Amino acid sequence: MTVRRGRHFLHIPGPTNVPDRVLRAMDRPNIDHRGPDFAELGLRVLAGLKPIFKTQDTVVIYPSSGTGCWEAALVNTLSPGDKVLMFEVGQFAFLWAEVARNFGLDVDFVAGDWRHGVDPDVVEAKLSADTDHAIKAVCVVHNETSNGITSPLARIREAMDAAGHPALLMVDAVSALGSMDYRHDEWRVDVTVASSQKGLMLPAGLGFNAISDKALAAAKEARLPRAYWDWGAMIKMNADGFFPYTPATNLFYALDEALKMFDEEGLENVFVRHSRLAEATRRALTAWGLENACLQPELYSSALTAVMVPDGASADAVRRIILERFDLSLGSGLGKLADKVFRIGHLGDLNDLTLTGALTGVEMGLSLSGIPHQAGGVDAAMRYLAET
Ligand SMILES: *Cc1c(COP(=O)(O)O)cnc(C)c1O
Repeated sequence: MTVRRGRHFLHIPGPTNVPDRVLRAMDRPNIDHRGPDFAELGLRVLAGLKPIFKTQDTVVIYPSSGTGCWEAALVNTLSPGDKVLMFEVGQFAFLWAEVARNFGLDVDFVAGDWRHGVDPDVVEAKLSADTDHAIKAVCVVHNETSNGITSPLARIREAMDAAGHPALLMVDAVSALGSMDYRHDEWRVDVTVASSQKGLMLPAGLGFNAISDKALAAAKEARLPRAYWDWGAMIKMNADGFFPYTPATNLFYALDEALKMFDEEGLENVFVRHSRLAEATRRALTAWGLENACLQPELYSSALTAVMVPDGASADAVRRIILERFDLSLGSGLGKLADKVFRIGHLGDLNDLTLTGALTGVEMGLSLSGIPHQAGGVDAAMRYLAET
């Protein structure tokens, strides 16, 4: 038996580390989810989430993971055979498209190489060519967690406007929300999909949709079957702080506490902290002489960095050695990037020293696994963090 001491270093890009005060906040007995104490909590977190999405629109909370909220976005707004435009940026985009196909939607899946983000020019060209408005929704993963590529949402919105096309804009912000600037209202997103276990620093189990009035109107006409995910019943009961079925009450206590933490730090400061830690990670990468999976510097993610290992090397072997020797968990390569990358999560509850600790584990692991690289990655990160 291996005895481990000290804290495990969890540096996967979600689920992320849960702050101790959030853990303590949820250590509570069950309460009556139809009673007055619950209603107060329900109303408070429903309202408290809105600034995180930067929205005045309706936000709903499901007891679910993020995947459920992909489904919720589609089944509430679309009808069988509807055309949707999606982009193969990485594994999560691929999986969302699979969900759409499973519901009989006609997915125009724009092929990609998993190293570039959504191209706004392609969005504009596709929509301009769609003169009879067959495309009902454009679905974009904002921060693609399989490769650390953040697609440019403001420009995608502009492209949709330039084409003068009425399609809904649906965005997966699962790993963006709470770690990168996200603007549901300003970008006129119709449905934002998110969940609790990434930037929000919570355990898995809460899923979110933020919903525009235009999406609510579409829901009135939509004919895909829906029951559990139906916005109608949810929104009706939420008005009084209640839910149509049992909510994850203890996660609501956790969310309430996490929202306090965002308030104390200030949302914009949270983003600055993440972008600084991300830059420090990239400085380490450059010094090691390793390649970022994202080939567009302007789209580098603040939430994670996916590190390519040299041809012939196994990213999973590196991860295994790092876990065994240093009790540090890194994200695996997913789908087409399996065994080709390891992912360093730098989102949620972390600071300069947790990050440099993790980078130290990575640098030692690179040496132990014989990956060709230069030393000095941790030094480069430390220098950047000390000077900024
Ligand atoms: C984690 C993640 C998901 C899936 O969320 P689950 O909670 O695992 O269902 C979807 N999209 C993105 C971008 C993610 O990072």
